[in-house]
Amino acid sequence: MHETSIVNSIMKTLEQEFEEKKLNTLSAIYVKVGKLSNIEPRLLHNAFTANNYCGTKYHHVKFHVESTEIKIQCLHCDHITQITDYKFMCEKCEKPSKNLIQGEEMLIHKVEFDD
Ligand SMILES: [Zn+2]
Repeated sequence: MHETSIVNSIMKTLEQEFEEKKLNTLSAIYVKVGKLSNIEPRLLHNAFTANNYCGTKYHHVKFHVESTEIKIQCLHCDHITQITDYKFMCEKCEKPSKNLIQGEEMLIHKVEFDD
């Protein structure tokens, strides 16, 4: 259910962003979800398919979900570390950091239209 409401809000965003005429030619949606966002990419994809945009103008739209890694930027040395084991620590100076720069987001990365 969680994922369904996310899909709905994505579609709402697109409907606010683009004119209907343009949306009629929508062919693909690319979404990025951070590993800390509590959104399961597979479920999100399933929600789009199951939500059945079948029979609507969106039925042929491809929905791509990409999972993004967790990254922190160190406040001491500015080094960016990719977090793999939930150890929030700078790999360079080994100071703990919670300064997230990526990993919590859910964003519409790109949309494509047919010519
Ligand atoms: Zn550091």
